[in-house]
Amino acid sequence: RFVSLEGGEGAGKTTVLDALRAALREGGDEVVSTREPGGTPLAEMIRGLLLDPSHEPPSADAELLLMFAARAQHVRETILPALERGAWVLCDRFTDSSYAYQGGGRGLDVAWIAELERRVVGLQPGLTLLLDVDVARGRERVRGRDLAPDRIESERDEFFERVRATYRARAAAQPQRFRVIDASRPAAEVAAEAVRQLQAWRAG
Ligand code: C5P
Ligand code: MG
Repeated sequence: RFVSLEGGEGAGKTTVLDALRAALREGGDEVVSTREPGGTPLAEMIRGLLLDPSHEPPSADAELLLMFAARAQHVRETILPALERGAWVLCDRFTDSSYAYQGGGRGLDVAWIAELERRVVGLQPGLTLLLDVDVARGRERVRGRDLAPDRIESERDEFFERVRATYRARAAAQPQRFRVIDASRPAAEVAAEAVRQLQAWRAG
């Protein structure tokens, strides 16, 4: 009952999350929707630190460790208790984001990320919906939104191409967990497709 949403900037994760939550609640189930980095008071404070434009951006290593510090708290305080009482958990980003952004984007050692995952996370979503959109179109959609402050214009596209490629490679390698959704279509279509995929996974 643990579902994550992944994708680059402007993929439409928030709209899809709202649609999935509504669909599940129709069935009367408890649904906890949450996000990363964040999802508990402490983890939201870490998110604030990561995105605060008033100080130097974190080094790649510091960013990775802060992401996992937030995630460790999120898993223990929010996700596991919800799963244990039988609720659905819908998570806007999870560990796949660290592989994509800190691994693919920032070039950190994937074995280190995997080790952190094993030690401090210890669980994976049953279903991960990857909202896949090309980098230029995603950038159009988020113009003017709060992005991590260090992504200077000249590096942005290459960075996000690596993020996207990493996501797609992970989806191809773990087809039992991932469903890739073409998120270049209008938001309502993308959301409807995501709901269909969730229902199909649930029924299967
Ligand atoms: O999900 P959302 O777009 O709100 O994420 C906030 C910011 O944090 C984005 O700029 C995203 O690229 C960044 N991020 C990151 N590494 C992660 C998760 C999010 O750089 N593991
Ligand atoms: Mg969002």
